[in-house]
Amino acid sequence: MNSTRLCAYCAKEGPLTREHIWPGGIIARAKGINTSYFGRLEKFIDAELTIKDVCADCNNGPLSGLDAYICHLFDTQFCHPVACRKSRTFVYDYERLLRWLLKISFNTARANDSDVGVLSNYAGFILEGGEPPSEVRVCLELIHASPNPKWSPGSNAMKEIPAASIRCARVETPADPLPGATLRLVALYGFYFWIVLTPAEVDIAALQGLPGKLLPPNKTKLSLHPSRGMLELHADWVRNPRASQSMRELRARRAR
Ligand SMILES: [Zn+2]
Repeated sequence: MNSTRLCAYCAKEGPLTREHIWPGGIIARAKGINTSYFGRLEKFIDAELTIKDVCADCNNGPLSGLDAYICHLFDTQFCHPVACRKSRTFVYDYERLLRWLLKISFNTARANDSDVGVLSNYAGFILEGGEPPSEVRVCLELIHASPNPKWSPGSNAMKEIPAASIRCARVETPADPLPGATLRLVALYGFYFWIVLTPAEVDIAALQGLPGKLLPPNKTKLSLHPSRGMLELHADWVRNPRASQSMRELRARRAR
């Protein structure tokens, strides 16, 4: 049966390989996180999810090249904690970054069976690159550690709750500033990438209500200030019906 399935990226017939959604390099780097208190907050980590619809040529070729780029960003930038009230300059290659963000979103979407249609439109761009699609925008938000309310002198609790999770999820902002748009989040430690896919090209002004700062496609650097702490961010997640749903689904998958 598997021999009749087609690669989700190049649409050629298999053989198809089973892969983790998150690159092995990122899973290896994210290891060793102290999860004692934090475990409860790490509900959105989908590191164990696998997909089995990508051919070896795509996986070992262009897709692993994108993974290498994100591991490089991890080592040079994401791994350094975001400090409260201290600006940071994010250095990026927009095309490669966007291709990788769309890849992890597309992979997660197929495993969760949501947003597959809209994200599959970008399979070609993810594989081959080229002119970045103008109806896809990326906002970057820096999230800093929060003081742990459960901590007291002499307690075993961590003094701070660090921004130390990796996440990829579909989200809905409470205000829903862009009707018809698809909003996805990819978070790597303190770096929260909000990806907006609109039905057609939108005025940048319409993106004002989104968290973070728009990453200019024609630039390579963006200086920005951390906006929220982990606890504030988590409070928003709890109020977000779709995030709560993804939390329940992930818990159910883990219980199986
Ligand atoms: Zn392929």
